[in-house]
Amino acid sequence: MHPSRRPLIAGNWKMNAGGADGCELAAALAKSLRETGDVDIVIAPPATALAAVSNELNKNKSSIAVAGQNMHPEDAGAFTGEISSSMLKICGATWVIIGHSERRQLLGESDGFVRDKVAAACRAEIRPIVCVGETLDQREAGQTLEVVAAQVRAVTGHLGATPGYGVVAYEPIWAIGTGKVASPEDAQQVHSHIRGLLNEVSPELATSTRILYGGSMKPNNAEGLLSQHDIDGGLVGGASLQASGFTKIAEIAQGLAQQAKTH
Ligand code: PEP
Repeated sequence: MHPSRRPLIAGNWKMNAGGADGCELAAALAKSLRETGDVDIVIAPPATALAAVSNELNKNKSSIAVAGQNMHPEDAGAFTGEISSSMLKICGATWVIIGHSERRQLLGESDGFVRDKVAAACRAEIRPIVCVGETLDQREAGQTLEVVAAQVRAVTGHLGATPGYGVVAYEPIWAIGTGKVASPEDAQQVHSHIRGLLNEVSPELATSTRILYGGSMKPNNAEGLLSQHDIDGGLVGGASLQASGFTKIAEIAQGLAQQAKTH
């Protein structure tokens, strides 16, 4: 964590909590996250719960922002089952997760498609959280930095147009939902590499872009990860489905942000 960047903790609910349970979780978070004012908090419910969760947060006067888990680059048309940037906005979303590895792997989303989505999100004034990360095979073959470089370079042109507007999430695929977490040192190495890639576009993009870590982040490992110089927050999957665990991670980020300010 670096004092010049405001930490961000985002919860990816995936295909869970899509009804009244989502509203209950949002209401619990609105209450438990009142004291984390130095941290930006974003939650990404499934599309079915976006509008209701936004309303619930507004009703509770919460500063938690809402994200879509995906969007299509086109604004309307024959794209059955897809959701557009304007639809996300109607539901109250101000952020969107783009290029999550589950979509890249299971639905074949390419770097080019991810780039088009990032461009569309920026045009529509929805802040993108762009996910990148390597598979276990790629890591074991020593290809992590080059795989991540290709994914990041696909989107830096669009992120560079408004430095700091978008966010990058480094999510090693082998760590997602597996309970295996990257060591703070390994994660820091990739984060620093990503910052270097952003620096190729502009120093301002490098210093202002928040780079989140994602992959089995939990209350018991968050501090080690969030203490790293180039780790500016977390994208949390499983642990974001319990208000207590997600709140604990946000509180750890809040504590580190306070420390960073005073040093
Ligand atoms: C994710 O899906 O973005 C994620 C990081 O999941 P988990 O925390 O469950 O590994």
